[in-house]
Amino acid sequence: MDNSLIKDRQRQVFTKGKDNYVIQAEKRSAAGSVSQRACVFCGSRVVLYPVADALHIVHGPIGCAAYTWDIRGSLSSGPELHRRSFSTDLRENDVIFGGEQKLYGAMKRLIPEYKPNAVFVYSTCIVGIIGDDVEAVCTRTSIEEGIPVIPVHSEGFKGTKRDGYRAACDALMRLIETGNGLRDAETGTHKIDKTEKKPVINILGEFNLAGEAWIIKEYYKKMGVEVGAVLTGDGRVDEIRSAMNADLNIVQCSGSLKYLAKSMEERWGIPFKQVSFFGIEDTAKALYTVAEAFPEVPGLIERTTELVQSELTNIYPQLERYRKDLDGKKAAVYVGGAFKAFSMLRSLKLLGMSVALIGSQTGSSEEYEEMKELADPGTVIVDDSNPHELSKFIRELDVDLFIGGVKERPMAYKLGVGFCDHNHERKIALAGFEGMLNFAEEVHSSLTSRVWQAIDEAKESDPWKAD
Ligand code: SF4
Repeated sequence: MDNSLIKDRQRQVFTKGKDNYVIQAEKRSAAGSVSQRACVFCGSRVVLYPVADALHIVHGPIGCAAYTWDIRGSLSSGPELHRRSFSTDLRENDVIFGGEQKLYGAMKRLIPEYKPNAVFVYSTCIVGIIGDDVEAVCTRTSIEEGIPVIPVHSEGFKGTKRDGYRAACDALMRLIETGNGLRDAETGTHKIDKTEKKPVINILGEFNLAGEAWIIKEYYKKMGVEVGAVLTGDGRVDEIRSAMNADLNIVQCSGSLKYLAKSMEERWGIPFKQVSFFGIEDTAKALYTVAEAFPEVPGLIERTTELVQSELTNIYPQLERYRKDLDGKKAAVYVGGAFKAFSMLRSLKLLGMSVALIGSQTGSSEEYEEMKELADPGTVIVDDSNPHELSKFIRELDVDLFIGGVKERPMAYKLGVGFCDHNHERKIALAGFEGMLNFAEEVHSSLTSRVWQAIDEAKESDPWKAD
């Protein structure tokens, strides 16, 4: 037990080989912890943001909208309405007299102007406090305008970022239910004869950062599998409304969309599999998982094997070049979901590196048990960490590279360790086989940069340096 940790967090930090308890997870952040997690509203915003032909209205003070404006590097192959930030800009008068009229007025002005295919209305903290009837305003607007207008119950104080994911899943489920898909909405049976059709999958929890959904879709196209809808990367309202037609859901970001996959399984009997496209091992496994789900499709396994073998033949010699320089380097990893952390662990090991610190914002106790299995002795595992802990461990464990997101970046810079962005804002695709190569290149260029030599030289020549 580490006495420098906040008392309530001591069971959320674990050192393999030293501690012996189940890591506590999925709890509210401890007071005073300054968690790296965002609020409930932000959690729902990051999930729904990539739906590119929907209008996203933040019902609340302008700060909530500004804080989440253009929050991901999710690319669209068509409309870019998602990149705009609309807010009802609630002020003192609205807090006293209510903001329903303002919300209704905003939608009546914006819908004819931007002609969206659906509207998401996000409730922020203050809306929960003053008690606006957002449901009623959305229903009225939907009837009048003839498009789905979906309230997102994401009041910031309601829980953790994970509750925001759940609010987004509820909103997506409501949108899917408005669809007139080919599957009978009540019984779950296909209305058409599917015997001659390709298998159809939905990809959940893939946000098309730097075009990653396009890379993944291309793999499945080569295998002869149709991707019905991606939720929500490069998302379109009509595709999402047809998502009930799929034969299988695969879930990439477990933290965010597993709940939707479970709801779709309960509602329409669509099975789901958890996968990851980070790292070559996990990418190959994700492709085989889908192929094995359809044993009746002739040649599917053979086409998958051919694809994987050709990608591996291409990538392995290139990775070998990077491995020579990276062998023995030490990394710290702190990401949103635990499933991504597993992939990072495997990818870094493949590059010859060790992982001294690993953690996530939204992992579950079961996922951390799996993480313990994968980690080397001495590895520190953290749940819902904070800048104090992360900085402390990075210093103590003397890591060479920190892999995280936008909130971890300044920490790495201040501590003088290399940084690799593996979250919302990155501009480089890191998924799939080619993503693994980009990842290796990124890690290699960070760790072999001449800046580290210059820093060492500067330290040596520092006249103020203590003897
Ligand atoms: S915590 Fe509340 S006020 Fe702050 S950004 Fe989230 S919803 Fe807005």
